[in-house]
Amino acid sequence: MRGLVTKSTGSWYGVLADDGNVYQCRIKGKFRTKDIKTTNPIAVGDWVDIMVEMEAEPYTAIIVHLHERQNYIIRKSINLSKQAQIIAANLDQAFLVVTLASPFTSLGFIDRFLVTAEAYDVPAGLIFNKLDLFSEEGLNILHEYTAIYQTNGYPCYEVSALKGMNIDAINDLLRNKTTLISGHSGVGKSTLINAIHPAAEMRTADISDWSDKGRHTTTFAEMIILPHGGRLIDTPGIRELGVIDIEQRELGHFFPEMRALMNNCRFNDCRHINEPGCAVLAALGEGGIAPSRYESYLSIYHGNDTRA
Ligand code: GDP
Ligand code: ZN
Repeated sequence: MRGLVTKSTGSWYGVLADDGNVYQCRIKGKFRTKDIKTTNPIAVGDWVDIMVEMEAEPYTAIIVHLHERQNYIIRKSINLSKQAQIIAANLDQAFLVVTLASPFTSLGFIDRFLVTAEAYDVPAGLIFNKLDLFSEEGLNILHEYTAIYQTNGYPCYEVSALKGMNIDAINDLLRNKTTLISGHSGVGKSTLINAIHPAAEMRTADISDWSDKGRHTTTFAEMIILPHGGRLIDTPGIRELGVIDIEQRELGHFFPEMRALMNNCRFNDCRHINEPGCAVLAALGEGGIAPSRYESYLSIYHGNDTRA
């Protein structure tokens, strides 16, 4: 029977099967991801085939097959630089929840998120939260930022999860899509999810007493099925997504505004750093590329992982 992985604890998986039941599953056999070494074989959002063991409480099964992924998104393993943890698979879109104060989200952090999404072919955008806290000056800064991102094809939403402002727009955004939501701790992700789907608080109750309780060293994503259609993948405690082995010469492709220009650079292998005839540097000088975006390019290019 086919099913969708909605929860993963590292050794157990929650699978919403085609019969409507959620099975607690273990894995049998080896599951490998092409091209990268992963610390987890199966992730939230994966489609799998299961072999049912118990078709009644406690509904147990074995995962026997992993369907091919449309895409996935990872984070680098903290200990093993060449290993990746797959955070989620089969995404239609990924949104970063951002606050400019309490806590501050840097543009560098936003840009690394967007580069990751570009690298894994996941359409991405930004949700600016805590709009109720903005002064007029703060709003001006916010609109400078949203102008930069919207020009580059990243939709931006401005909401207050606490006050319920613009939540309808988020509901429309999520309808019938599988969406990954990420963001610094404290930006209001849980508040936003509860504003979208008040019953979401209950979502972990069914599997909270699984066997590996107390072993919460690793954080995993979790899927929330939205009542009006759509699936939300929450990434609690996941600070940052990442790209494994991004090639320096490929990096410009993951900035849409650079990608659009780089064919005009004099040199084919232009790094857009100090080359003569560089179309990217020319656009930067003329205000066609935002300085903050170019700074992020340099920072990622040189491997500065500030994690701010
Ligand atoms: P999470 O760590 O991203 O899940 O953040 P929480 O949802 O737990 O929110 C962190 C804090 O920010 C809580 O005290 C929330 O009440 C507060 N918060 C969340 N959204 C808003 C908002 O739109 N405006 C204001 N003023 N506070 C908010
Ligand atoms: Zn160039």
